Amino acid sequence: MTTTLHLPEADADLTPLEEARAQLRDAIDFLGLSEGKYEMLAHARREMTVAVPLRRDNGDLELFIGHRVQHNFTRGPAKGGVRYDPNVDLDEVRALAMWMTWKCALLDVPYGGAKGGVRIDPRNYSQTELERVTRRYTSELIPILGPEKDIPAPDMGTDEQTMAWMMDTYSVAVGHTVPSVVTGKPISLGGSLGRRESTSRGVVHVALAALESRGLRPAHSTAAVQGFGKVGRGAARFLDEADVAVLAVSDMYGAVHNPAGLDIPALEAHVDVTGSVVDFSGAEPLDRDALLELDVDLLVPAAHEGVLTSDNANRVRAKVIVEGANGPTSSAADRIFAENDILVVPDILANAGGVIVSYFEWVQGNQSYWWTADEVEERLRTRMLGSWKDVTAYAREHDLSLRSAATIMAVERVALAHRQRGLYP
Ligand code: GLU
Repeated sequence: MTTTLHLPEADADLTPLEEARAQLRDAIDFLGLSEGKYEMLAHARREMTVAVPLRRDNGDLELFIGHRVQHNFTRGPAKGGVRYDPNVDLDEVRALAMWMTWKCALLDVPYGGAKGGVRIDPRNYSQTELERVTRRYTSELIPILGPEKDIPAPDMGTDEQTMAWMMDTYSVAVGHTVPSVVTGKPISLGGSLGRRESTSRGVVHVALAALESRGLRPAHSTAAVQGFGKVGRGAARFLDEADVAVLAVSDMYGAVHNPAGLDIPALEAHVDVTGSVVDFSGAEPLDRDALLELDVDLLVPAAHEGVLTSDNANRVRAKVIVEGANGPTSSAADRIFAENDILVVPDILANAGGVIVSYFEWVQGNQSYWWTADEVEERLRTRMLGSWKDVTAYAREHDLSLRSAATIMAVERVALAHRQRGLYP
C-alpha cells in the first residue's frame, strides 16, 4: 500500500483517505517534518473491525460490519463520533478519525482523534433492532473504550439515544455507571446543555465571521444549506436568527427554494410533521444538486463527504463555503475555489463546535458539576472565534488557504506533543 500521496496535478478527485493523507503530506512538507513522522500520522494507532450480528424483530438473522479507528492519542484520549450509514467503510472511517485528531488539536481540546461506524441504513430498522445493534457493537469495543481511552459521540445516523445505550452497555460490563464514556448523551444522564445544537452554533459563528471578512453583513446576505439533520437544520435556524436569508435547504429526499428567503420556523414545523423538507408549502421544489450551485453568498454543505468536486466546483457561485460536514470538498474543488476567489472555511474549524461541547460535557461529568446553557454557549463562542482568528492570521502570514493553515497548525501541535513525550521505548 502506498501512503505517500501528493496532491494530484490533474483534476482527479480522491477518496476521503487519500484526501486526508494528501493534506497531511502537505502539512508535513510545510513544517519540514520527517518522512517517518508522516508515516506515523498517516496510519491509525489502533483499529478494530467487528462483526455485529442482529436478530431482527421477525426472527431473521443479519450481519453488519462495524469499525472503530483510533487515529491518535498523543494529546489525550481518542475522541470522535460513531456513524450508522450504508456507505461506511474502513478507509472512510480512517480519514474521519484523522480529521478528528486535527480538529481536537486545532481547537486545543485535549484529545486525540477517533471515529467509528456500522455499515447499516438505520432508517430500515426498528428502535429495538437499533438498540441491539448498538449494544452488540459497543460490547465488542469495550476493551478499547473508556473515559480515559476513547470517548464516542453521535455522528450521521446516531443520536442521544444511541449514546445512552452505549453508556449503559459499557457501564453494565464494568459494573458501575460511567457517564463520561460517551458524550452527546441525554441531559438526564449527564449530557451537557447546548450539546445538541453545538455543531450548528459553531458553524454559524464562523460563517458570520467569514461573511464579515468578505465585507458582507448578515442582514444583506443569502445562504443555501445542504442537509437538514443534526448540523444543517440548526445552521439554517441560527442563520435565520442572525438575519441571513436562507434561500434553499435540502435533505436526502429533495430540496426546497424560495428566492425571497424560507420561513425557517414554519419549515421546521413542516419537517417535524412530515420528516422531510419536501412539499413545504412556502417554497418551490429544487433539484438537490442545483442547491450547491445557487447564486447565494454563503453555502453550507452539512450532509456528507465528497459533494463539492471537480465536476461541479466551477458552477458554485457562493462567495463563502463553510463546511458543516466532514470532508465535503475535494482538493481538486479546493483549487478551483481558490482560483475563483471563493473562501472555504474547512471542516476541522467550521464544524468543531460539536467536539468542543463534547469536551465541555466530559469536563462537567468528570467534576459532577453542570454549567448553565449561557456558560456553555459563551465558552463555545469564545473558542470558535478564537480559532477563526488564529487560523485566518496564520493563513495571511504564510499565504495559505484556511484549510492548509488549519491542518498545518493542528499537525504542528500533535508533532510537538509527540516530540515532547518522546518515543517509547
Ligand atoms: N461527530 C462529531 C464530529 O465529527 C462530534 C464528535 C465528538 O463530539 O466527539 O466532529
